[in-house]
Amino acid sequence: TCGICVEKCPFDAIEIINLPKELQDDPAHRYGENAFSLYGLPAPQEGQVTGILGPNGIGKTTAVHILAGELEPNLGRHDEDVDWDDVLEAYRGTELQDYIADVRDGEVTVARKPQYVDQIPNSFDGNTRELLEKTDERDALDHLVERLSIGPVMEQSIDDLSGGELQRVAIAATLARDTDFYFLDEVTPYLDIGQRVTAARLIRELAEEEDRSMLVVEHDLAILDLLADTLHVAYGEPGAYGVVTSPKSVRNGINEYLAGYLDNENMRIRPDPIEFEEHAPRSSVRGDTLVEYPDLEKSYGDGEFSLDVEGGEIRQNEVLGIVGPNGIGKSTFAKLLTGNVEPDSVAGSADGADLDLDLEISYKPQYVTIDQHMRVDAFLSSITDQFGSSYWNTEIAQPLQLERIMEQNLSDLSGGERQRVAIAACLSDSADLYLLDEPSAHLDVEQRVQATSAIRRYAEQQDATVLVIDHDIYMIDLLADRLMVFDGEPAVHGRAGTPQSMREGMNEFLANLEVTFRRDERTSRPRINKPDSQLDKQQKSEGEYYYAP
Ligand code: ADP
Ligand code: ADP
Repeated sequence: TCGICVEKCPFDAIEIINLPKELQDDPAHRYGENAFSLYGLPAPQEGQVTGILGPNGIGKTTAVHILAGELEPNLGRHDEDVDWDDVLEAYRGTELQDYIADVRDGEVTVARKPQYVDQIPNSFDGNTRELLEKTDERDALDHLVERLSIGPVMEQSIDDLSGGELQRVAIAATLARDTDFYFLDEVTPYLDIGQRVTAARLIRELAEEEDRSMLVVEHDLAILDLLADTLHVAYGEPGAYGVVTSPKSVRNGINEYLAGYLDNENMRIRPDPIEFEEHAPRSSVRGDTLVEYPDLEKSYGDGEFSLDVEGGEIRQNEVLGIVGPNGIGKSTFAKLLTGNVEPDSVAGSADGADLDLDLEISYKPQYVTIDQHMRVDAFLSSITDQFGSSYWNTEIAQPLQLERIMEQNLSDLSGGERQRVAIAACLSDSADLYLLDEPSAHLDVEQRVQATSAIRRYAEQQDATVLVIDHDIYMIDLLADRLMVFDGEPAVHGRAGTPQSMREGMNEFLANLEVTFRRDERTSRPRINKPDSQLDKQQKSEGEYYYAP
């Protein structure tokens, strides 16, 4: 026993330092003897968006199966016959009482968007229009297709859609259904910020205008903040037990999560807080130049897509953030730097197209493809002889949670595990420049936080220069010293601006999106303003979209 449980620790060998109140009650469900237990349940509310914030493996999906009536919870009595009447009895007098009565009576209908949209093509044969027409129970399709810009791919086969297109189709398919309860497991993967904001607004509108209950799991905190009315924080020991807290306001829930301390529960969930700087970070003191690159042009095919890059410099030992919509040429720029793509023209170059930067670049592409039949430890030790050193373990393996997967094969890893190995591999290589394309993809909120601080610390301690392309605005804010902004018309023409200060960069980027951020009074955390609110109008007229002046 851990010394706190009065009798026997239900989780065998798990050290519980501070047994939370919730764990002293019976769980909602336990999969079996010594198996995963879920404590507490989220409470969906009509007309509201309820968020769940927490790492993967903590029981969010289990909770949703229960609320959807697909899994009869056993109240921790896995060897007894427990039915919905017992469950109703256990939840009498709680927010969930009416809801559970409806589930028992088979009166709850559910629409669900799965977490891994990449798997949709395996279960549907046909084009986008066929898929969406089958789900259009609310006669809402035209509206959803327009708002989510799905029009151009309506006749395309589901097999041929990109990740971002599949995500938007899946959101439309879910919101077009006519049900009481909508569950969306992550809405932002593969979407750019404009698309994320649109998806969030559509979900809110359905809750507010049609009085539906929405339950959303989301790892992008800026979007979760915009999306949810109330928030359940989920914490625990992934794979062993999870606790879903009582609902908090979305503001308090995110603030407490970032602070690493849950107020009502009196529970520390992380040793260190995550803090944002109110003013644009790090002064404009000029570092030495690592590399200068000239104006560049690149187009594909017969000019279906063209990119103009404004020349600029990358400074030694900076983290340069790269932002812009999908399909605007960010990955193409990365490949121009690495030499994987040849430019059509290079300003000032005699033979027109020679870009020799003479840099060693360590590159993590957007779509991580490491899947050889090789163990993680063998793979990583082939990249660095630092592998296994205490420095490497502390700075790379620990924050990226690699210890538990070291002995697995690369080909057996989940998307999030593969991403963490790929980030580790990229940073472990010795290079002049580290280039990470979408490191947040597939990572849960806690892993994003850890990966962000690992990359930041690595840059500081190794005097490394790092370029990070990402859509998670909190991650970019916490990571970057300067910003490079892409704009233009996606899939047609892109323009890459020269690297600029965080403040100038955020202003340019967010002006393109017409989105402003205010500051949380208590924590200085950036929060998206309601469009046309007084602050939104004022900040737009002052041209201050992100950092306080
Ligand atoms: P999340 O959605 O937060 O990632 P899940 O609810 O999917 O978490 O899973 C929580 C834990 O429950 C995981 O450790 C998972 O392995 C375990 N689990 C899920 N389904 C079952 C099952 N049918 N039997 C035993 N354990 C399960
Ligand atoms: P981003 O990284 O900003 O999403 P990309 O650089 O990946 O943008 O792509 C920009 C545009 O170029 C997209 O329309 C994409 O379809 C197109 N594109 C990318 N690579 C190729 C290629 N090898 N051949 C033809 N078109 C391409």
